[in-house]
Amino acid sequence: MIVVMKSGATEAQVQSTVARVEKMGLKANVIVGTERTVVAVVGDERVLDAPSLEAGDGVAEVMPVVAKYKLASREVRPESSVITVGGFQAGGGHLGVAAGPCSVENEEQIVEVAKAVKAAGATGLRGGAFKPRTSPYSFQGLKEDGLKMLATARDETGLAVFTEVMSPEEVDLVAKYADVLQIGARNMQNYRLLEAVGRCDKAVLLKRGPSATMDEFLLAAEYILDGGNERVMLCERGIRTFEAHTRFTLPLASVPYLHSKSHLPVIIDPSHGTGHTYMVHDMAVAAVAAGADGLIIEVHPDPPNAASDGYQCQDYAQFENTMRRIQKVQKALTD
Ligand code: PEP
Ligand code: MN
Repeated sequence: MIVVMKSGATEAQVQSTVARVEKMGLKANVIVGTERTVVAVVGDERVLDAPSLEAGDGVAEVMPVVAKYKLASREVRPESSVITVGGFQAGGGHLGVAAGPCSVENEEQIVEVAKAVKAAGATGLRGGAFKPRTSPYSFQGLKEDGLKMLATARDETGLAVFTEVMSPEEVDLVAKYADVLQIGARNMQNYRLLEAVGRCDKAVLLKRGPSATMDEFLLAAEYILDGGNERVMLCERGIRTFEAHTRFTLPLASVPYLHSKSHLPVIIDPSHGTGHTYMVHDMAVAAVAAGADGLIIEVHPDPPNAASDGYQCQDYAQFENTMRRIQKVQKALTD
C-alpha cells in the first residue's frame, strides 16, 4: 500500500502516518520526492483500514498495491488451478460444460435431460432444487426431493451434479447430494454462506453478483478459500446495466481480466447472462474463444413449458449444435 501525502504535508503529519502504520505491526518506508512524500507500507496490509488512514491529517490518498485478495490471486499462485469433479474438469486448458434445466421438475425430466446433455458432450448436470426466485409466489424448487432426483440422474449418467445452496443451514443437506455447490448471484455476498461452503469438501461454483465489482467477486471467493476449500470456480453470469435488450449484460472481458488476477477457473453462464435462447449459442462460442474454462448452460426438453427460465433455455438440438461448435473453437485455439 502506498500512502501519498499532500503536497506541503508537514514532517509531523508524515511521522504520525508512519506511527499509525507501525502500530499495526507493518513497516513504513518514507520516500521523499520533489513534489510529495509517500509512505510505502510493507507487510500484510489487510490489517490496515485504508479509509481511516486516508482521513489522517496531511494524507492525500491511499493506494493499494497488492490485491486485497491473496489466496485467490495469481500473485500468490501463478499456475492456473484445475478443478476436477468426476469427469468434469475446468481450468488449465480443460473446458468443463454443465448443462440442464433451471429447476429440477421431476425425476423423469432430470434423468432424460442428463442423458441428452451427456450424449452431446456435457460433463456436468445443472439443476436447481432450492430456487432463489424474485417473487415469493414463483416456483421455489423441489428442495430435498429435487436433490434426490439429481442424485438419481448422476447415478444413471455419471455427470457431476451442480446445484444451488441458498443458506448456511442447508449446506450439509445439499452437499449430501451435490458434487458442486452453486452460490447464486443473489448470495455472492452472503458471507456466512461463503464461510459455510468454505468449510465443506465439495467444489463450489461462485456466481458473480449482478452489481458486484471484480474486487468484490474475488474477495467473495477469498472467503471460501480462506475457509480451507480450494476448489472454487468463478462464474460470470452477467451484471445489471442500463441496457434492457438482454436480461443482464454479459461482459466477456471478465475472462481475461479474471485470468490476469486469479488462478481460479472462469465459467461463463450465457443463459442468465443474456436471458434469450437465441443469444445463448453465440455467447457460448464467444466465451470459449475468449478463453473461458467452462460453461453452464440451461437446457430443457420443452423450453416454453419450463417451470423457470424457459425463455433462456436451449432445447436438445440447440445444445448439441452449441457443443459441436465450441469443441471446434476449442480445438482451433489449441492447434
Ligand atoms: C440459476 O443458475 O438458475 C440461477 C438462479 O442463477 P443466478 O444465481 O446466476 O441468477
Ligand atoms: Mn435459471
